[in-house]
Formats: sequence, C-alpha cells, structure tokens
Amino acid sequence: MTETAQRPTAHYEVIIVGGGMVGAALAALLGRAEVAVALLDARPEPVAADRVGRGLPAMRVSALTPVSQRLLEGLEAWSWMAERRVTPYRFMQVWDGEGSGEVGFSAEQAGVPLLGHIVENDVILAALERSLAELPTVAVQLGTRVTGLEAGPAGRVVELDDGRRLSAPLVVAADGALSPLREMAGIPVHAHDTGHVAVVTTVRTERGHGGVARQVFRESGPLAFLPLTVDGDERYCSIVWSTSPEEAERLVALAPEGLARELQAAFEARLGAVEVVDRALAVPLTQRHAEHYVAPGFALVGDAAHSIHPLAGQGVNLGLMDVAVLAEEVLVARRRGIPLGEVRMLVRYARRRRGDNAAMLALMDGFRLLFGTRHPTLTLARNLGLAGVDRLVPLKRLLMRQAIGERGQLPVSCR
Ligand SMILES: Cc1cc2nc3c(=O)[nH]c(=O)nc-3n(C[C@H](O)[C@H](O)[C@H](O)COP(=O)(O)OP(=O)(O)OC[C@H]3O[C@@H](n4cnc5c(N)ncnc54)[C@H](O)[C@@H]3O)c2cc1C
Repeated sequence: MTETAQRPTAHYEVIIVGGGMVGAALAALLGRAEVAVALLDARPEPVAADRVGRGLPAMRVSALTPVSQRLLEGLEAWSWMAERRVTPYRFMQVWDGEGSGEVGFSAEQAGVPLLGHIVENDVILAALERSLAELPTVAVQLGTRVTGLEAGPAGRVVELDDGRRLSAPLVVAADGALSPLREMAGIPVHAHDTGHVAVVTTVRTERGHGGVARQVFRESGPLAFLPLTVDGDERYCSIVWSTSPEEAERLVALAPEGLARELQAAFEARLGAVEVVDRALAVPLTQRHAEHYVAPGFALVGDAAHSIHPLAGQGVNLGLMDVAVLAEEVLVARRRGIPLGEVRMLVRYARRRRGDNAAMLALMDGFRLLFGTRHPTLTLARNLGLAGVDRLVPLKRLLMRQAIGERGQLPVSCR
C-alpha cells in the first residue's frame, strides 16, 4: 500500500456518491444545516441551467407529488423550477384499453389544490445545483468516479478514479439503479425483469391536455400521456409507453409519422391527432429492491435502494422521501453528538423507509399483472373494480392521498 493510500486526502462528515436528483437533494438538505458534505458524480459537467426548461421539453420528465414539491420549496429550488417550466395537473384519467372500465381522479376529490406537476428532470437537477452552489459546506465534485469503498479508522473511505481517497463516518450511495457502491458494500439486491421496456418521447396533440394526466392500460402494458405546457400551449405531452421488449424495439425504429399513428390508435385518439416531436428512446424496466438499506457507515437512497416501474410516477418521489428521512435522522444524531455512521441511527432510517417503498413496489407489480391479463374473470373484476372505485368518492380520496405522497408520518421537511 502506498503512503497516499494510507492517508486519506480529505475528510468530510458525509460523502454522497451520485449527484442525480436524489443525491443532490440530500446534499442540499445537509448543506443547509452546515454539514460538511462531498457530493461526487461521474458526469463531467453541471446541467446547463441557462438552457433547461426552454423550447421543446426534454424527453425525461417526472411526475412530482405535492409532498416532493414541499421538500423542493424548502430547498429554495421550486421557485426557480416554476419560473422555468413545471406543468400542474388537477385530474387523472385511467382506463382499461381492453375493456370498459374507467376511473377519474380530481384534486378536488382528494381535498388538495393539485395532484402534482410534470417537470423535466433537467429542470429539477439544475434547480438543485443552483441551490448547492450557495452552500459553503458542500463540495460538489463532478467528473469523479468512485472506484472503491473500504472500512476506515473513522468510518468509510472511498477511492476515486484519479487516485484520491476521501473519508467520512457516513457514505451514502445515491448512484442509481445499478449502484456500483451497493455492490462494493456487498448488499444483495432482489431484481426482477418486469417484462416491459418503456418507450419515451414527446408529442404534440391536436387538442390541449387541459391539465389532465392520462393513462390507458393495454394488455401489452400501460401508455401514459403526461401533460406539458410550453409557453402557454397545452398541446404537448410526454409519453411513457411500457410494452414488451420486441414491441419497444419495433416502435423506436419507426419513422415519427409511423410512431405517431401507433400512439394515436393505442390512446384511442383521446386528444385527437398526434405528432411526434422528438426522437424515441427505449428504457428497460427492471424492479429492484436492496435486501437492506444500511450497513455501518453506509446507506442506500433513491434508485440505488429501489427502482420501480414508472406506471404510477413514484420513483423519484420515493427517493426524495428517503433523503428527507435520512437527513432528519442524521441531523438529530449530529445534534446529540452521535457518530453519523452509527448503525442504530441508520437502522431507524431504513425502518422508516423500507416498508413504504416495498408496499409501492408490490402495488406496481399488482397493477402490471392485473392489467396484463386476458383471463376473463380477472378482466371482468378489473372493469367492475374500476367502475366501483369511480363511484366511491371516499375510497378515491384515500387512494389519491396515498398516490400524492400523503402517507404515514412525513419528515418535517415535507410537511
Ligand atoms: C421511463 C421512466 C419514467 C419515469 N417517470 C417517473 C415519474 O414520473 N415520477 C417519478 O417520481 N419517477 C419517475 N421515474 C423514476 C426516476 O427517473 C428515478 O427514480 C430517478 O431518476 C432516480 O434518481 P437517482 O438520483 O436515485 O438516480 P440517478 O438519476 O440514476 O443518478 C445516479 C447518479 O449517480 C452517478 N454515478 C453512478 N455511479 C457512480 C460512481 N461510481 N461514481 C460517481 N457517480 C456515479 C451517475 O452519474 C448519476 O448521475 C421514471 C423512470 C423511468 C425509467
């Protein structure tokens, strides 16, 4: 071992590996409490803040719940996002493309002003990066890949691809669904292929979306038209079409006019004619859940802990809830003088988050299986079920409050 290898070059209170939306939000939460944080990401540059949320919408978007919005407001990121581009939706319409069932949800029925916003991922990340630039205790290091993780005398040591070593009592992996850090920490993951690949693109429709998020469940998988408003024009939607790998391959290879025809037919032309205005991308959908979220001096958050089918738009919302809870536990421990990597504190974080994430993963599986069947009894039950839910306003209110993130004891930063 060389001398440099024995002596870490820099020490922090928390090292966060992965500066996507989830890791950046955690760095902002901790930085606002003056915790010394290193936020490391392999991507070479920050998001080009002067370009995002302008012109044609970016292809990757997220449906953010009102609970996630409150967190981002607290981080002083939301007002900049709202000034760039966020599209509120007050209604959701879900129907069975193979039967007659249909259910509508409104913000009014849920007792809230809005059900959520569709926001481009780049807009969220750029807003968080702007907030981080104001926090003197957060060192953002881009173009830095973590290649190793070890136990050190005072916690954990991470090795970087440029040969440097950093140490901290707590290392948090926010390094995405394939999480190299999860593997380095030896945490097993339960993964199962959903059998779906998501085809993602942006369309312009003949009629405006009217602030409604729409989703049709077809036997091959769900197709979502998520509303986007561009300079006051409501005729844009972000598309997430989950389907079989073969079908996805065929769809992305089509010319824009061909894909538009397929989208229009599958969506029953509910918004009239469809024009595809961006390229189409195929994203494989695997659900994963880490067997446990924590080890001494180590925690998983966001997609590194769980990756979920996007049919209910929950992924990043669950990740933001993870970091709100973890930051709360870290700050309590810090005030009490408890070491930040202390396993009892980390277990409290895991206990508060794992059940909620597991329930959501199971629910997504249930939806996918229920709607992916041609079994006549299940089809009938599905249609009767949707019609029944549609008539039961108190049940709808309960379901909506779950979907918009109002579940259990929320961390203070999200209340
Ligand atoms: C088609 C689709 C639609 C979706 N729609 C929604 C939606 O509507 N609503 C919603 O809530 N969620 C949605 N999601 C889920 C959401 O996109 C993810 O949950 C979210 O992007 C995860 O963020 P993250 O920060 O955890 O991980 P990531 O965004 O994957 O970030 C991980 C970061 O870690 C970095 N990294 C990785 N390895 C290393 C390393 N060794 N060293 C340094 N850096 C490293 C990477 O460069 C990357 O920047 C959708 C997902 C898909 C696929």
